[in-house]
Amino acid sequence: MGQVTIADADTVISGGRGLKGPENWGMIEELADVLGAATACSKPVSDMGWRPHSEHVGQTGKPVASNLYIAIGISGAIQHLAGVSSSKTKVVINTDPEAPFFKAADYGIVGDAFEVVPKLIEKLKEFKAQNA
Ligand SMILES: Cc1cc2nc3c(=O)[nH]c(=O)nc-3n(C[C@H](O)[C@H](O)[C@H](O)COP(=O)(O)OP(=O)(O)OC[C@H]3O[C@@H](n4cnc5c(N)ncnc54)[C@H](O)[C@@H]3O)c2cc1C
Repeated sequence: MGQVTIADADTVISGGRGLKGPENWGMIEELADVLGAATACSKPVSDMGWRPHSEHVGQTGKPVASNLYIAIGISGAIQHLAGVSSSKTKVVINTDPEAPFFKAADYGIVGDAFEVVPKLIEKLKEFKAQNA
């Protein structure tokens, strides 16, 4: 789990079923670490025990009102969007250009999380090193 709680977070990095399994959450935690963000997840992810229930966001989970919400491998079902609509800027990474989340997002990357997220981490680390 991230060091920052969802309620206090300026940035939240959230993972969905598109991440395939709990063993793939290392890159979510690393991205959260680089950005000083909290980690979150969709309901099925916590129902399957991939992540703790305290991370489940949405209509039946925690509300998110962060400045930045990055949804990775999350389809954007109405029950999920209900809990994150107060986030100021929403970014989506999803392989399916028809995923509903793209309609609710401010920025979207159509791509495979397993390619996009490691590149994002690398670029953010470079940026931080250059601006340290
Ligand atoms: C009464 C009720 C209450 C609910 N409350 C909530 C709630 O509070 N919160 C919540 O989240 N859900 C809730 N749900 C469930 C909700 O309807 C959805 O089923 C759920 O949000 C889907 O989770 P998901 O997006 O992680 O999974 P999926 O719908 O399976 O979507 C996975 C996404 O990952 C993408 N993907 C696949 N592989 C990759 C890859 N390699 N890289 C990038 N993207 C990829 C796919 O294109 C897909 O869009 C509720 C449902 C009901 C009926």
